[in-house]
This record gives sequence, C-alpha cells and structure tokens, in this order.
Amino acid sequence: HLPTAELQALDAAHHMHPFTTNDELAEKGVRIITRASGIYLTDSEGNEILDAMAGLWCVNIGYGRDELADVAARQMRELPYYNTFFMTTHVPVIALAKKIAELAPGDLNHVFFAGSGSEANDTNIRMVRHYWAEKGKPTKSIIISRNNAYHGSSVGSGSLGGMSAMHAQGGLPIPDIHHIEQPHWWAEGGDMDPEEFGLQRAQELEKAILELGEDRVAAFIAEPVQGAGGVIIPPASYWPEIQRICDKYEILLIADEVICGFGRTGNWFGSETMGIRPDIMTIAKGLSSGYAPIGGSIVSDEVAAVIGASEFNHGYTYSGHPVAAAVALENLRILEEEGVVAHVRDVAGPYLKEKWEALGDHPLVGEAKIVGMMGSIALVPNKNSRAPFAEAGTAGFVCRERCFANNLVMRHVGDRMIISPPLVITTEEIDVMIGRARTALDECYAELQK
Ligand code: PLP
Repeated sequence: HLPTAELQALDAAHHMHPFTTNDELAEKGVRIITRASGIYLTDSEGNEILDAMAGLWCVNIGYGRDELADVAARQMRELPYYNTFFMTTHVPVIALAKKIAELAPGDLNHVFFAGSGSEANDTNIRMVRHYWAEKGKPTKSIIISRNNAYHGSSVGSGSLGGMSAMHAQGGLPIPDIHHIEQPHWWAEGGDMDPEEFGLQRAQELEKAILELGEDRVAAFIAEPVQGAGGVIIPPASYWPEIQRICDKYEILLIADEVICGFGRTGNWFGSETMGIRPDIMTIAKGLSSGYAPIGGSIVSDEVAAVIGASEFNHGYTYSGHPVAAAVALENLRILEEEGVVAHVRDVAGPYLKEKWEALGDHPLVGEAKIVGMMGSIALVPNKNSRAPFAEAGTAGFVCRERCFANNLVMRHVGDRMIISPPLVITTEEIDVMIGRARTALDECYAELQK
C-alpha cells in the first residue's frame, strides 16, 4: 500500500470520521490499521498494538478467525443476498433466530433483525409504541431512558441516548423520550451510601412514571452495565428496584445488550448478571464479533404475538442479511463450543478482576471497577477524594495518548479509562495488557505533575 503519510493525507481529504474533528485528522494523522490477529492490531508502520477495547466493544472472539471468513465466502457464493420481507426467508436467518432464541433467557424467543444496534433501538421505539396501541392503550408512548446513556447515533436511538453533546446537534431528542439520572455513585453519589444511592436513582423511575402519568409511559430502556457512558456498574440495589417498578406499572423493560450481550459480563447476557427479566433485548456487536454488521431486537412471546397480529410497517433492506446471519451463527458456534463465556466467568474474568482492581493502588487512580470483561478506572487529582480534575477530560486524554505510545488501545470517557478486551484473552495476555496500562498511567502521572 501507499506510504503512511500519503494514506493519512488522503484520509483527511476524503474520509469523514465519526466523533473526530478535521483539525485532529490534519494535525495528528490517523493510525492506519492494516491487519489483526487474536487481541493484536498491526498498523501501517508495523506496530503491534494490544486492543483492550475489542474494536468498539465487539470483537468478542478475537481477530483473524478463518472459520468466519470461510463461512462468509461460502454464503456469498451460495446466496449473497435475499430479503425477509413479503413472505420470504432463507436458511441462515432461520438458523440464527433459532440459536438466539435458545441462548436468550426466559421467553425471549423471537428476533427482529437490523443492521446495527442503532437500527435495532429505532425498531424498539416503534415496536413498543405500536405494541401499546395494539393493546388499546395508544397514549402509552413515552420511553424513559437515562442521562449519559448511549443507545446509538440514528435520530431515534440518539434520542434514547442521554449524551448532551449529541442532543446539542441535529435536533435531538424526538418527542416523548424522557431521561432520568444514571446510577453513577462515584461521580454523583456525594456522601450517600452506594446502595442507598442506587435505590434512590432507581426510584427516580417511579417518580417519573407518576409525574408523566402511568397511562403515558410505554417502556424503560437501559444497559445492564452502562458502557460508553464510562462502564458504570450500578450498585446492587439498583436493578431489583427497577424491575419491581416496571412490573408494578406495566412498563416494558428494554435491556440494551449491545455491549453486555454475548459473554461480556460473564453470562450470555448482562441481564442475567444483573438479575433482570427484560421484555425486549437490543443486540449487535458481539452477535457477530464485529465480523459482519448485524443487530436485532429479541422479544418475548407476548410482544411478538401482539406485534405480529397485524402488519408491522417496519424493516430494513439488510434485516437478516444472509451473509451477516451466517457469520453470526458461526461466531455463536465458536463462543459456545470453545466455552468462551465460561472462560470469562471462571478464568480470565476473575484473573483480570484481581489485576485491574490492583490498579487502584496507583496515585492517579481513584477507583478501579470491573464486571466480566468490561472495566473502568477513575483518574483523580487527589487519591483521597472523589473530586474530579478542574478541566474534565484532560487527564483521560493524556492517558489515552500514553496508552497509544505503549501500543495499547484503551479508551477514555472524560477522565475514566475503559477496557473491554476480546473475551478470548489469556491470563498471559492480561499480564501484558495490565503491564502496558500501568506504564501508561505512570507516564501520564509524570506528565500531569509537570
Ligand atoms: N447501544 C449500545 C449500548 C451501544 O454501546 C451502541 C454502540 O456503541 C449502540 C447501541 C449502537 O450500536 P451501533 O453502533 O451498532 O449502531
């Protein structure tokens, strides 16, 4: 390929990147990733970079699995495309829907496919409103979500999300989306006991339902563990109270499992780890380990019966795309047959937890939290206090750059550093990852002292 500098210049000239400014592209030059294998990326300069984010929280089985490439090639030759509209279907989508129904808990037995998590959450908005209309309660249209949540970038899913920077652009949110506070004890809990705080934040849902009117609220959506918001693991008191409130007021519970699903928290779904019984789950990312774009909504028997009773005027050209479905099915076979979820739960997860939480002794780290294979650390100016840096995000940015310099991809959300490595990571690879993270923290600490 062309030399790196030329590729960077072409990229800056013609390629518009998500969540990136032109100045960043022009001044810094992007990293060009050329290959990947296992947990390592290779860039155009030949650097081997440990990907502690599994891409965007998605490459659960790791990079470079030939089985998925072979399945994709075979499916492209046999049936590269056909749709699932108007009374047609195909074998890969049938097999995938059956497999997902087997894996999903309770009576979540039906899948409406989409091309991404954003599209799936758009489906959910329309589906829950249509569900209540079909049940003779058309006023139930409000969906309650949380501040600082991320549910996608389309107009609908970006509205469900609670990111103020996203709402500031492009006219979001759409009507009838209401946000309550998140259960982020570290940043917002003040002097409260974490469990008391978790309960209080869950009860905000009840307050909102009573204020808005029980007859107007259709659903509550949340991630079992908030990912892009900063890997925020709620206090144990939070989810049982949310479940109680949803049951009491007949509010559909949507668990956005786009990150948590397919093993990330040590169970097939984060809902199992958090002990909740959703009516709908959003899935994407780990469903295909990112090898093909695919997402979907898994819904209960009851929701599927109501939605299917008349025509649901909704669907995407790539709903249940045969190549993506075949790739996803092969990915699930690997996750299952290689015991990857058990590896997270029993081996790599507990090992990483010990190593990750030990970073809490670093002078720059206030707290280090992890569930399964999603973890975060809070960077703080003073270890004895939860008070944040005066200029939010600076320390996180410096730390991310020091990670890059040490051939490690860790993401920062403000001053929280985040990891979400491929689930197949070994204990030896965890040692390398933690070693590089510690070096980056030391260098960041030194730079901030200057
Ligand atoms: N929901 C959650 C929880 C996510 O983290 C994301 C993406 O990061 C999405 C939805 C959107 O998925 P996609 O980027 O596939 O549209």
